[in-house]
Amino acid sequence: MITSDIHMHSSFSSDSPAEMESMIQGALKCGLKTICFTEHLDYEYPGDDGGGLFMVDMDAYEKKLFELKDKYKNEIEILFGIEFGLLPHLGERYESVAKAYDFDFIIGSSHLVPAPWYPNETCHGDPYEAKFWQGRSVDECCRKYFESIVHNINAYDNFDTYGHIDYMIRYAPEKNKDYSYTKYADVIDDVLNTIIKHDLGLEINTAGYKYGLGQPHPQSDILKRYRELGGEMITIGADAHKPEHIAYDFKKAETLLKSLGFKYYTIFKKRQPVMLSL
Ligand SMILES: [Zn+2]
Ligand SMILES: [Zn+2]
Repeated sequence: MITSDIHMHSSFSSDSPAEMESMIQGALKCGLKTICFTEHLDYEYPGDDGGGLFMVDMDAYEKKLFELKDKYKNEIEILFGIEFGLLPHLGERYESVAKAYDFDFIIGSSHLVPAPWYPNETCHGDPYEAKFWQGRSVDECCRKYFESIVHNINAYDNFDTYGHIDYMIRYAPEKNKDYSYTKYADVIDDVLNTIIKHDLGLEINTAGYKYGLGQPHPQSDILKRYRELGGEMITIGADAHKPEHIAYDFKKAETLLKSLGFKYYTIFKKRQPVMLSL
């Protein structure tokens, strides 16, 4: 049974309205034993004009988390994490954050994708925005997304798991219509082999169910392929930005993982993997 949700946000992330304590209360209602906050840190997010759209006040975040960790220590284990929005040239900047704080867990994610056609001077964009998809085929955009994951890992790998590796499909013009592992098998195999080679985990992110995709991120055929290629380290998170989304459809994820032959999932404490039975 899955009793840990190790990907969630609170109001320390600019896209979450939820007070950290309300997230903890939500997790208690779900009967979870362990949670990890993984606030957003995305350098060079376009359009933020230096305003730090996805910046986090690290010291305030750390202070609040450890205060609540202590307050709730007899009820739930609260871990200290972060979600880095990766780009190949940002490794050094993320490394200085990874070193400066005593994190339990770091997620590396692709929110921004190098896109030479993108109408801003940094030439990268978020598939969340409609303009990412404009004037390009869905295939080309999806491929760019997967390729960016390989480039990111090869440039910088001091994190623990790769988040939502098919995140872009949430925002593709027709969502997951026609989207399948086989269509992108070559580049997805590249992604999975790179993840395995660098000893990273693969995240199953249940926000895919919440977005109506009928699948988690990544979809089941990709999880199946990961296992075929020898992958074993699955981390699990709902990517909740509100208390009601904590542990979202974890039962479905558990059933899916078991049906694919996985027996364990992994959480991280002090950056070390801990395997738990499904
Ligand atoms: Zn993310
Ligand atoms: Zn997230």
